Amino acid sequence: MKVAIYGAGVSGLACAYQLERLGFTGQIHLYEEKEDIGVGNLWME
Ligand SMILES: Cc1cc2nc3c(=O)[nH]c(=O)nc-3n(C[C@H](O)[C@H](O)[C@H](O)COP(=O)(O)OP(=O)(O)OC[C@H]3O[C@@H](n4cnc5c(N)ncnc54)[C@H](O)[C@@H]3O)c2cc1C
Repeated sequence: MKVAIYGAGVSGLACAYQLERLGFTGQIHLYEEKEDIGVGNLWME
């Protein structure tokens, strides 16, 4: 089985992480249109 996740913000990354953590053994394709992943508008001080 293949899973496609569009967007590598925190939600997309968390989704991929949880799929693997729960034992998903299929292919996970994570697509991101920007150069950076993960942070988006998220920042912390
Ligand atoms: C101005 C602003 C300031 C914020 N400041 C804070 C803060 O200080 N602290 C905090 O905790 N939260 C903050 N937030 C909220 C935080 O950014 C969001 O809660 C969080 O980023 C949501 O994560 P997400 O993965 O759902 O969406 P996003 O982070 O938006 O990730 C979605 C990703 O999908 C990608 N994408 C979209 N369409 C496609 C496509 N068709 N193909 C490929 N990739 C695609 C986008 O490029 C993006 O990287 C802020 C939000 C905004 C708008």
